[in-house]
Amino acid sequence: MHFVSTRHAAPAASLSAAIASGLAPDGGLYVPEQRPQPQRWHGQGSLAHDAEAVLAPFFAGDALAPRLGALCDDAFNFPAPLRALSTPGDHVLELFHGPTAAFKDFGARFLAASLAQLQRDRAQELTIVVATSGDTGAAVAAAFHQQPGIRVVVLYPDGRVSPRQAHQLGCFGDNIHALRVAGSFDDCQAMVKQALSDRELQAQVPLSSANSISLGRWLPQMSYYAHAALVHHAATGEVLNLVVPTGNLGNAMAAVLARSMGLPLGQIALATNANDVLPRFFEGQAYRPQDSVATLANAMDVGAPSNFERLRWLHEGDDDALRAGFRTASVNDAEIREVIARRYASAGEVFCPHTATAVKLLEQLRAEGVQGDWAVAATAHPAKFESVVEPLIGRSIEAPPALADLLKRPAHAEPCAPHYAALRERLRNV
Ligand SMILES: *Cc1c(COP(=O)(O)O)cnc(C)c1O
Repeated sequence: MHFVSTRHAAPAASLSAAIASGLAPDGGLYVPEQRPQPQRWHGQGSLAHDAEAVLAPFFAGDALAPRLGALCDDAFNFPAPLRALSTPGDHVLELFHGPTAAFKDFGARFLAASLAQLQRDRAQELTIVVATSGDTGAAVAAAFHQQPGIRVVVLYPDGRVSPRQAHQLGCFGDNIHALRVAGSFDDCQAMVKQALSDRELQAQVPLSSANSISLGRWLPQMSYYAHAALVHHAATGEVLNLVVPTGNLGNAMAAVLARSMGLPLGQIALATNANDVLPRFFEGQAYRPQDSVATLANAMDVGAPSNFERLRWLHEGDDDALRAGFRTASVNDAEIREVIARRYASAGEVFCPHTATAVKLLEQLRAEGVQGDWAVAATAHPAKFESVVEPLIGRSIEAPPALADLLKRPAHAEPCAPHYAALRERLRNV
């Protein structure tokens, strides 16, 4: 299968080429040339097995196709369990059992394995440049650490990620370089976009991206939704409805794409934090990107969700059809705190602030009488956001072992001005 840009001004690319370049040359996002056709699916293997099945149509005919099974085994080597919550019919899909305790480990590991494979025949080093509002950079750093032929430059907004997130970005060293930018996540993202479209720079320093816009991260995120839906359907005969906490819309768009392939997924509801550009759009207003505001769910502090272009593509640009298909809600910091404290007090359930936005939306849907089996995508382990969660539940949260190991290493990040010139200088000289 070939891939085209959401902006229609770039040539179609093979899967390998689209993965290697990250962003399309016209500034758009790569999407499949044909919208996926619904198929019949038979459960249920391991996560890696279901990942291979759901990704196979996209890999057909590509140089990476013969490696797909190995890539899935390599990337999806930790579980994504679906667990029942205390409230009947409600579940949590735990996506935080990877090396940096957030769902981004899945996509980052798949992308790293793919790029390492593609780099094997190339002499020149590849630089991955990535902006992070917290979790992306850590997942990317962990996935690419010590991969031969690849170095990583991670930009994050200084002071706007949790202390543990900052530590995880700076603790790898070797081929991983962390830059703390005196600006917002949107500044970081704009700097990265500029680097990726700077042809003169790239003639000397080959670049690629690892943000959620990258096809190599986006497509594999379908895997855990596919697997959970197949397992649930085999066990109960029911479709699984989802609430996905959303920032750049990458994770949610993967769920939407999986559903469009005929997997037994039902409704998909989108929870945001106080950055409410999507809820406003879904209420009927024009799509209007805004400056992001800092919230407790900081990995979702996004004012211009980049994957919105893919959501529009999937609905053939028909905004009314798009609006009819999704329920959204914006959940503010006070509500996030309230949900975390109450669910712990009433049921002993502990959620990270991002997951809490989705739990809140599910509570609203149930209060309206919405039926069926639902799963909240738990995007990070609460121990990653201990400074928010621990005071609310009145006890400490033990970090999962992989995260605890990272926190023991020393960390270092270089300061960087929030301008492209400063980044360009670094990329030429790191
Ligand atoms: C990145 C992230 C999100 C948002 O995911 P998108 O794909 O950007 O919508 C939600 N929760 C956590 C913990 C994250 O790290």
